[in-house]
Amino acid sequence: MKIAIFPGTFDPFTRGHEDIARRGAKMFDYLIIGIGHNSQKKRYFPVELMIEKISEALSDLPNVSVKAYDLLTAEFARKNQATYILRGLRNTTDFEYENSIAQANKQIYPELETVFLITSPPYAHISSTITREIYKYGKSISEFVPYSL
Ligand code: ADP
Repeated sequence: MKIAIFPGTFDPFTRGHEDIARRGAKMFDYLIIGIGHNSQKKRYFPVELMIEKISEALSDLPNVSVKAYDLLTAEFARKNQATYILRGLRNTTDFEYENSIAQANKQIYPELETVFLITSPPYAHISSTITREIYKYGKSISEFVPYSL
């Protein structure tokens, strides 16, 4: 059984993330969306709210679940018997960052393979940071997220 983790901060989960999750759900038997949450780091959108919204947005996918975690991603994967990490790539900045995380994860858990999906063009410009900014200033973010807030 091929189990994958799609880890991220998801503050908030966007249509770009949704696209990666939906495509990933077709590639693996089971996909766990892992919200990495360090209790010392401040988030804008509470983890519990995001779990609820992501579950709602992906409720049609029976092989996807959502969990929060506060440990190394590689350890979270091991704990869930996942041997794949799924990540999205938008640009070269993402690539530089992802390259080093993937190497580190493999050192911690050698059986772990990181799989990258290139963002779909309609979502390439969406980031959690921009979505948060728009929301903070009271504008609608319905174009950016797959649920209502
Ligand atoms: P992190 O803080 O771990 O980078 P994010 O929540 O920002 O977490 O992103 C999680 C994953 O989703 C990363 O692999 C990121 O590159 C990818 N991602 C973010 N936005 C998009 C998008 N618009 N299209 C495709 N992938 C994306």
